[in-house]
Amino acid sequence: MARMTFGPGRHSRRGPKPGQSGNKSIREIVEEIRAGLPSKENYRERSLTLHGLICARCGREFTSAQRQLLTVHHKDGNHLNNPADGSNWENLCAYCHEDIHSRELLGEYLEKGKK
Ligand SMILES: [Zn+2]
Ligand SMILES: [Zn+2]
Repeated sequence: MARMTFGPGRHSRRGPKPGQSGNKSIREIVEEIRAGLPSKENYRERSLTLHGLICARCGREFTSAQRQLLTVHHKDGNHLNNPADGSNWENLCAYCHEDIHSRELLGEYLEKGKK
C-alpha cells in the first residue's frame, strides 16, 4: 500500500514555479491600469496647458520655470474626476490652493457645529 501523507506534516513541493502564467497576467493588468489612469503629473500638465499658467483665483501669472508653484485643484474635490476637457480643474497658486482647502475645512467645521 502506498503511504498517503496528508495532514500538517505533509511536505508540499509547491513553490514558485518558473514561468507561471498567473503572475504574468496580474502584472499585465497592473500595467494596463498604470497606463490607463492619468497619473498626477499627466493631468497636471494637461490642466496647465488647457487653462494656462495663471492662478484662477488671484490672477497671478507664472512663467514655465515657475510652473511648479501652480497646483491643479479639483473643483468637485474628487481627485479621480479628471475629464479630458479640464472642466473639473482649476490652476491655483500654492497660496490660493491652501486658502481654498482651509476654507473647506472651516466650512465643514462650521456645518458640524450647526447640527
Ligand atoms: Zn492665487
Ligand atoms: Zn485642491
